[in-house]
Amino acid sequence: MDKEKQKRILAMVMAGLIIGIAVFFYIQSRESDEIEEIKYTEFEKMAESGEIKEMEINFNDPTFTFKNSSGEEFKTDNPRSFNFKKFLLDNEIDVEEVGKKSVIVDMLMSLFMTLISVVVMVFLLRSVLNQSIASPNLNHKTENVVTRFSDIAGNEESKQDMMFLVKFLKEPKKYIDMGAKLPKGVILFGAPGTGKTLTARAIAGEAGVPFFNVSGSDFIEMYAGLGAKRVRTLFKEAKESAPCIVFIDEIDALGTNRGEQSHSEKDQTINALLAEMDGFNTTDGVIVMAATNRMEDLDKALIRPGRFDRHIAVELPEYRDRLNILKLHSSNKNMGDDVDLDALSKMTIGFSGAALEALINEATINAVNRGSKVVENEDIEEAHFKMLIKGNKKKDSDRTKKETELVAYHEGGHALMAKLITDNDIPKVTIIPSTSGVGGVTFNVPRRISLLSRQDLENEIMVLYSGRAAEEVLKGNRDEITTGASNDIERATELIKGYFNNYGMSEKYGMIKISSIKEGEYLEEAIEMSKRLYSKTLNLLEENRGKLDQIAGELLEKETIVEDDLDRIIFGEELEEV
Ligand code: ADP
Ligand code: ZN
Repeated sequence: MDKEKQKRILAMVMAGLIIGIAVFFYIQSRESDEIEEIKYTEFEKMAESGEIKEMEINFNDPTFTFKNSSGEEFKTDNPRSFNFKKFLLDNEIDVEEVGKKSVIVDMLMSLFMTLISVVVMVFLLRSVLNQSIASPNLNHKTENVVTRFSDIAGNEESKQDMMFLVKFLKEPKKYIDMGAKLPKGVILFGAPGTGKTLTARAIAGEAGVPFFNVSGSDFIEMYAGLGAKRVRTLFKEAKESAPCIVFIDEIDALGTNRGEQSHSEKDQTINALLAEMDGFNTTDGVIVMAATNRMEDLDKALIRPGRFDRHIAVELPEYRDRLNILKLHSSNKNMGDDVDLDALSKMTIGFSGAALEALINEATINAVNRGSKVVENEDIEEAHFKMLIKGNKKKDSDRTKKETELVAYHEGGHALMAKLITDNDIPKVTIIPSTSGVGGVTFNVPRRISLLSRQDLENEIMVLYSGRAAEEVLKGNRDEITTGASNDIERATELIKGYFNNYGMSEKYGMIKISSIKEGEYLEEAIEMSKRLYSKTLNLLEENRGKLDQIAGELLEKETIVEDDLDRIIFGEELEEV
């Protein structure tokens, strides 16, 4: 909910409170009206002089009120004496006795009044709040989604993955009749601006179904209980509009690991969401999609089977995809002949689709500011430069190029070493930045009994060291090695610690859990081991320098290479001979 609406609700709540308080004080003041209080002796005088004709009195009350003949009202102490009534009657006053009954009626009356005002207030507040719960949903619903798959460049894999959802949404009955089970929840994960929202919207567009677009953060800026209520309202509406897509952006806002700081409003909201998802069937035709760039720390309850059990990665675009995105977003602009989108694509490693779109847009603005009708290369370069600075990247493009080369050698080194000394599969090596690091090697460790031999352990450590070692091989010195290996070092250190401390693999200490005896006892030997393995890694890379150069070269050219490329480079000739 936006700030404006929050303010409005707050104002109305305040107004309600003020009115309530005013009513309360009004009733109070009426009860203690300015009735003049007089001494009992004065009352006696008035009674005796015949100024009082009639009276209504409860003889148990501590005070009583009366009117004189000219209608003025007075109040005085009740003597509660044995012959008080006789005194009144003697002075010819008509006495009407009101007993306890009337006190009870009084109490009931005021209770009744209070109740009515409370009910009215609650009713008022509720209608105000309900309005605010219902209206954002309506705002977020789009009936005629114009987005199509053709608006997405690249992202081929996720598009393929999504095709079946489109088919289902188009003809749910066909699938339901066959008893097909479809995912209830799909999570799209990847860096910001990679087109997750775009993809979800395109599915709705292709299928021609309504699209509900909410953000996880909408639910938590809520007053107590409202997040949960809004979830229920959202799903009620969605079911009425089925088949449809409910898209929850930034789902991590409400679904990160609970416990770390227990936030009960968040929990209520997430529980409501889970209850809704557990409660409906895919046959209802509602598909819930969610987006996050922090898949690792999503609440595990969210990704359990029957909830968000389908996870699709939306990656930062590679060179070819970047080119297509650039083409797509410049297709409706007047681009000059000197604009080289291919070259631009090569210079924009790590840019998301949204960033590339922004770049083209910025360049167009530059052209307009120049008074030109054509977007020229200078506009592009200026925009590119600006975005690099904004992203805190080095403006020196030569430096950037050197850094990319270093990353290619670092990742290439990992991949080469893993291929040479382990039987791990390596489906993918990339120099495209990920959310977790600069580049990356995807290792698929083969399924085996989870026992590592001492040799395996040393090999794993060498694979971890090979990133740094490849940097050293490239630079030929140790002055230019980088901080890029910090994660590798941390993991290697854990393995070494295990080698001495958990697995009893050290010659010197044998099968003793050293740390239980004296902390840090094996430090020297651990350092020696680390040095030995590092120099072994270095030597092996030097021996295979040609292959390393080739892997890094292809990485620089294609940014991402796959296992077949690695095999061709590393084992090429041997394979041909076979
Ligand atoms: P996310 O939801 O992953 O943060 P969005 O879907 O909001 O990213 O992307 C923002 C905008 O960036 C899109 O509306 C689109 O204009 C542009 N964009 C992102 N990825 C692509 C792509 N693959 N192809 C074309 N445009 C893209
Ligand atoms: Zn590394």
